[in-house]
Amino acid sequence: MRGRLIEDRIGFDRRHLWHPYTSMEDPLPVYPVASAAGVRIVLEDGRELIDGMSSWWAAIHGYNHPVLNQAVRDQLEDMAHVMFGGLTHGPAVDLASLLVEIAPSGLEKVFFCDSGSVAVEVAIKMALQYWQSMKHGERQKLLTIRCGYHGDTLGAMSVCDPETGMHHLFRSILPQHYFAKAPRCGFDGSLDEDALSDLSRLLQEHGREIAAVILEPIVQGAGGMRFYPPLYLRRVRELTHEHDTLLILDEIATGFGRTGKLFASEWANISPDILCLGKALTGGYMTMAATLTTSRVAEVISSGDPGVFMHGPTFMANPLACSVALASTRLLLSSPWKERVAAIQEHLTRDLSKCLDFPHVADVRVLGAIGVVELHRPVALARIQKRFVERGVWIRPFGRLVYTMPPYLILAQDLQHLTAAMVETIREEGA
Ligand SMILES: *Cc1c(COP(=O)(O)O)cnc(C)c1O
Repeated sequence: MRGRLIEDRIGFDRRHLWHPYTSMEDPLPVYPVASAAGVRIVLEDGRELIDGMSSWWAAIHGYNHPVLNQAVRDQLEDMAHVMFGGLTHGPAVDLASLLVEIAPSGLEKVFFCDSGSVAVEVAIKMALQYWQSMKHGERQKLLTIRCGYHGDTLGAMSVCDPETGMHHLFRSILPQHYFAKAPRCGFDGSLDEDALSDLSRLLQEHGREIAAVILEPIVQGAGGMRFYPPLYLRRVRELTHEHDTLLILDEIATGFGRTGKLFASEWANISPDILCLGKALTGGYMTMAATLTTSRVAEVISSGDPGVFMHGPTFMANPLACSVALASTRLLLSSPWKERVAAIQEHLTRDLSKCLDFPHVADVRVLGAIGVVELHRPVALARIQKRFVERGVWIRPFGRLVYTMPPYLILAQDLQHLTAAMVETIREEGA
């Protein structure tokens, strides 16, 4: 994208390209990117932005990382892709082996798929097939909590928050599931007995129809950037055992260190029956996700009719994606990620709390390398986005939420620049 071409391309983009959740008639402005390296996104006009988003939880090592680049290059020399039906390869086996080793205990069977949403579809299908094989085909409902987000495909959308997920638009074809109250927001708060008893009541009343409880552990992401205490998650695990139903944990956003633990379920010291991973799995290099389950669930599915798990994407276990995921995960494990995330948490807590002085700010919360400033009113996205870019940072708010989850290797001075820009820009929002 050089010279006049840039203008032509932006024009074409406006007329022909959908962006996430945008209008084709009146799209918000987009900023053309020339390249990205480390924690910097370089725009076509030469401006450099410090990345506060990790491209939606994914680019935990920043961009253009030499180790990840080399992994892709090396894999490209062998093969970019082969089908996974009837064939296998080193990258898939080595990645699965590493995931089984580091995942919460008991998760030993790995299904690779294309994206987070698909990983959730796969998890739901696993739960349904499990109960069918158990001769309990009447268990077809899911139970979740409000304010969740699990993806944009139909099955995943059916367990997103009914309001922010806009269920009314798709009511006629969305399966209807059960929603319990979301636990009160706050990682350090006490157990929300009221929310827990709502979930418990739904299990009591409908337990025999419920194939699985599905939720995001500790941090609810795109449904509102809410945190809840580990004890709530522990209790949910106990309740699913009591009512003999499965627990699906969606760690697509929280996995790979973001909350300060390698997986957020570690805060509660529990393991789910089914786990979804995505986003940071490939270090933000390409789309891939994984659904892990226990030997028990896998055995039951395989012993029933038809005796196979009914899913198999064309690009399943894509070797390029597996190779870069393996390199990214090894890089993470060999890095001082815990110290880095703790340092980011300390910095975000100290700096973002300045926003609490502004009357238009409702809440500031930080957990691990996630910092959230919640306003009383939705921001004017185009305007605030422009201000962030002018201040040299990339922050992408949604609704009433201005939040950041930077790459773990961000240096203190860049983080300082990032949070100062956030505080200043949020201050202006109140003017
Ligand atoms: C992003 C996200 C998804 C969906 O992943 P995609 O790769 O966008 O399909 C599902 N669950 C959670 C918790 C997410 O944050």
